[in-house]
Amino acid sequence: MSVEEEVLGAGAPAWLEKDRRYVWHGMVTYAAAQNPMAIVEGDGAWVVDAEGRRYLDAMSGLWCVNLGYSQPRLAEAAHRQLTTMPYYPLTNTHLPAIQLAEKLSDWLGAEYRVFFSNSGSEANEVAFKIARQYHAQRGEPNRWKILSRYRAYHGNTMGALAASGQFERKYRYEPLAPGFVHVPPPDCYRCPFGRTPSTCALECAAHIDDVMRWEFDDTIAAVILEPVITGGGVLVPPDGYLQKVKEICHRHGALMIVDEVICGFGRTGARFGHQRFGVQPDIVTMAKGITSGYLPLAATAVRADLFDEAFARDEDYAHLRHVNTFGGHPAACAVALATLDIMEAEGFVDRARHLGEVLAAELQRLRGIQVVGDIRTFGLLAGIELVEDRETKAPASASLTAQVVSECRKRGVIVGKTGDTTPGGNNVITLCPPFVVSEEELRHIVHVLEEALQAVV
Ligand code: PMP
Repeated sequence: MSVEEEVLGAGAPAWLEKDRRYVWHGMVTYAAAQNPMAIVEGDGAWVVDAEGRRYLDAMSGLWCVNLGYSQPRLAEAAHRQLTTMPYYPLTNTHLPAIQLAEKLSDWLGAEYRVFFSNSGSEANEVAFKIARQYHAQRGEPNRWKILSRYRAYHGNTMGALAASGQFERKYRYEPLAPGFVHVPPPDCYRCPFGRTPSTCALECAAHIDDVMRWEFDDTIAAVILEPVITGGGVLVPPDGYLQKVKEICHRHGALMIVDEVICGFGRTGARFGHQRFGVQPDIVTMAKGITSGYLPLAATAVRADLFDEAFARDEDYAHLRHVNTFGGHPAACAVALATLDIMEAEGFVDRARHLGEVLAAELQRLRGIQVVGDIRTFGLLAGIELVEDRETKAPASASLTAQVVSECRKRGVIVGKTGDTTPGGNNVITLCPPFVVSEEELRHIVHVLEEALQAVV
């Protein structure tokens, strides 16, 4: 029997055999890649596979389809733009980019200059280049190190991956870009500094101050951080953390880059995650929800005063020497504008906040289940950390976590899991439902998750 027959069985659908032969899927094991879902249509928070099975998508695709799978206005915006002016590079300009950049500044609540690209990884690469060039052009060319946190994910390219703090994504591809220094994350369930929430003195933030001095702060260009570490386990920082990091950056002359690739555009119940913590970043990176996942687009927004200080000069080489063919594609910008218009007109930021409260309340009933160690929520985001033993907090195995995901899928609900680096591996179930989900559907997601957890203990 061939491997194909063994894995797929006789009579497997033709598309599955072709997928197996021609398509390379990342981030899934060879075995898991044998049984992908072929999603053929979507409606609201639901997707339908080639066999006609319906799934409630509690992960919004890959944390991005915030407005759900059936927003005709987004398709119309792309169509209109593609039939008017399908492409022109942003070394010159076009109207959708201008309108969108203005709108993003408005959403950020201050004046920013916006550079467009195609993916979250690229947006972060651009941020690193801008940070280094900013310092060099202000007379501090030695500031080139970027600080980031273990467990965070910032992208798959050699710089963004170097900034990421998840070894299993980096292992086999090293050496990555040099100049990245990692610090422990704010993880209140497994505090790296041995504290509990009631004894917390924000050592995780204070440690950044130490590291900056140990590394020699004249060499630090920036700190990059998500408001809440999402893919690394939905790690919600303690009160005051972001403000303290901002203050430390300011004191040491480093820029603060906030990665809003997942947290942006309403996900946290605010327009941007950092707004919930009352900080104004120097640089903000965004992607995913900017178009609700309908087309690829990313952006790196830099505070206008920083731009003016270092880049508004008519000198050779003072400009940003970075361009990408498709960054700020007119159709993607048009879809992003329509996304933001819909969000404003239909109050989706407030809706996400409200749904987040409903989800948080519903999830409490999982607390009684033996493998549930911690439940973390922030806006319409949740992480359920699984443990073998609640006393010792020994992490549940990667296979148990994968089993929970699979039990949910069998019951028609798609949940995610982390690429985590704590001992024990993947042990956090993640939820990131679209903002169009109903309260009833949220309850259904939690109900199915409860059944799935009970099925594996
Ligand atoms: N930053 C964060 C926080 C992310 O979650 C991701 C992707 N999951 C990225 C950056 C990279 O984005 P992309 O996959 O679009 O390159």
